[in-house]
Amino acid sequence: RRKWKRVVGVLKELEESCETTVGRLRQVVDAMAVEMHAGLASEGGSKLKMLLTFVDNLPSGFPILGQYSMIVGVPPVCYFGMVFEFLSCCNLAALSVSCSCILPWSEKGTFYGLDLGGTNFRVLRVELGGQRSSFDRDVAQQAIPPRLMTGRSEDLFDFIASSLQHLVEKGNDSEQSPIIKELGFTFSFPVKQTSVSSGILIKWTKGFAITDMVGKEVAGVLQQTLARKGLNMQVAVLVNNTVGTLALGHYHDADTVAAVIIGTGTNACYWERTDAIIKCQGLLTTSGGMVVNMEWGNFWSSHMPRTSYDIELDAESPNPNDQGFEKMISGMYLGDIVRRVILRMSQESDVFGPVFSSLSVPFALGYASMTPLMAAMHEDDSPELTKVARILKDDLKIPDLPLKARKLVVKVCDVVARRAARLAAAGIVGILKKIGRDGSGCIRVGRTRSDTKMRRTVVAIEGSLYTQYTMFREYLHEALHEILGEDIAQHVILKVTEDGSGTGAALLAASHSSKS
Ligand code: ADP
Repeated sequence: RRKWKRVVGVLKELEESCETTVGRLRQVVDAMAVEMHAGLASEGGSKLKMLLTFVDNLPSGFPILGQYSMIVGVPPVCYFGMVFEFLSCCNLAALSVSCSCILPWSEKGTFYGLDLGGTNFRVLRVELGGQRSSFDRDVAQQAIPPRLMTGRSEDLFDFIASSLQHLVEKGNDSEQSPIIKELGFTFSFPVKQTSVSSGILIKWTKGFAITDMVGKEVAGVLQQTLARKGLNMQVAVLVNNTVGTLALGHYHDADTVAAVIIGTGTNACYWERTDAIIKCQGLLTTSGGMVVNMEWGNFWSSHMPRTSYDIELDAESPNPNDQGFEKMISGMYLGDIVRRVILRMSQESDVFGPVFSSLSVPFALGYASMTPLMAAMHEDDSPELTKVARILKDDLKIPDLPLKARKLVVKVCDVVARRAARLAAAGIVGILKKIGRDGSGCIRVGRTRSDTKMRRTVVAIEGSLYTQYTMFREYLHEALHEILGEDIAQHVILKVTEDGSGTGAALLAASHSSKS
């Protein structure tokens, strides 16, 4: 009985040390905004790298000239199908007849995307030219053979180019066609970008280790391989996966200002004014802005609630003192935090049976696979927690755990997921604060804020933690509302984009096309 009390004590202590009151979250918001400023002020000025992407315009699906001339009342020149949609959303139907003619969409034609860096590798072709939000897509996806992840760069890039070649052939798009095909390359590893279509690999992550690639210009290596294979294809953009997500989000909804991915790892990017990027004096773009890749997985603030489990996880990870935010939020780690707490419980009481080896090995089930199990246990709504019992028995080798202990395990999942989701929400509000979209600049009318002054703000979001883990998503939304307050939160929309990292890259190839 005394031992059971100790197990309950472990849970209590966890709950206390994972506390994320709204006051604490607001401190994390402030810290995120401060670090963003610091990372933009000087190279190495913050744990946030705030990398320049050179992406200075985002695909819109709208004829850009048309949009602006419409606002000043001059009939725009554009393709007719879109005009009606645009006019109806502006309540300017009366002008519609005079507006239907000539300029092409800002994005039109066939473009290719290549996405390397997630769980799977994808190649895709996107046909643009119809109505916004309805484009045709053909996708091929496969896992990278492990031997290619640690071999020679030539073998990996040959494999990638062959997949592209296959896609081109499948689409009846002749390889020998004299028209150069443009490609958006999503390469989700740390890259020092030198232009929108070139960058140098700083280091590999996520199990890749091809030493002859480090320090090389990534797009150039791909370009040479494509040429060797006889593919008439040009790498038009080289981007990070969050940038692809932002591009796709913006294509569908022009109010999209930032993108967040919470999957195996986590990262975010957003649209920044070039004059705020102080570390790059004299940076000029026609749009006056540029997408900044935050690399927010490495964010850290002393206001984040850290437990002994986090400290141990960090010490036993392959990258200690690195990616602190990511280690509290993403799929690669959440399940392992839960494993560590259950291990501690089993050391305190024999109700869990002997300490099993499957529990005592860090990342025992592989880096990421414990998180889906955690989600499944968390969301087990059967009265007897039968799914929890099955996962504990089959995957963690803890058979016959009594119901009261199973309830405790569910509670552990809840505490860890809730803290992660609330911190992610604070991160998102931090970005909004930095760009003045958190409502803090709103004019107050009487005692309440005037919501007419808050602009609609969309954040594109992707990753299995958000899309597959319902409790995580709900906790994230709840925290967003708590931090911002209802009247501001109603203007902030999180929109899921599907496969943005690849599709968005193809769209960016279109909006940065050398042909336009
Ligand atoms: P990527 O590897 O490209 O980030 P995802 O966004 O699909 O791909 O994220 C995969 C990660 O999400 C896995 O590492 C896993 O830990 C986690 N995950 C997958 N499915 C679920 C789920 N149903 N609930 C919670 N986490 C999940």
